[in-house]
Amino acid sequence: MRVRRKRGTIQVAQTGFESEALAILKQKGFRVTLPRVQVLRILALSHKPMTAYAIHQEIAAMGSSVDVVTVYRILDTLKSLHLVHHVGLTDGYVACRLDDTHESDSELIVCSDCGKVTELEIPQEILLRSNDQLAALGFEPKLTKLEILAKCPSCLDEPA
Ligand SMILES: [Zn+2]
Ligand SMILES: [Zn+2]
Repeated sequence: MRVRRKRGTIQVAQTGFESEALAILKQKGFRVTLPRVQVLRILALSHKPMTAYAIHQEIAAMGSSVDVVTVYRILDTLKSLHLVHHVGLTDGYVACRLDDTHESDSELIVCSDCGKVTELEIPQEILLRSNDQLAALGFEPKLTKLEILAKCPSCLDEPA
């Protein structure tokens, strides 16, 4: 079960991501294949973004043979269902820890030291306002995505 978020705070549910994601896959008419389950499980266990290659390596370590192209295709599917987010700063993928209403793609805080990703809820009005500026410049907005590099609380706690 993913936990509903309160405005401005992030509540992380570590368990249940995999089963909930599988339920969503089924509900949307996707087959639950072993590679999909493996990708979801690996992402469920990691709070740091993982590259498609790292995911591929873990699957290989489990004794399965899935090519990287398949891993990318699975990640694209999961991304389109808002189950995972792509982190541009580190070119990795993380499981979405927020509830089902998290459709934006997305606002993330990436720790500059440990790489851990925390999801942030920024009022959509603010993001939409940038679209007005884009429109004024003659652009057609396609995707607004915000990533913030910052040192996380546990890294700040660590003695230097
Ligand atoms: Zn999310
Ligand atoms: Zn950190």
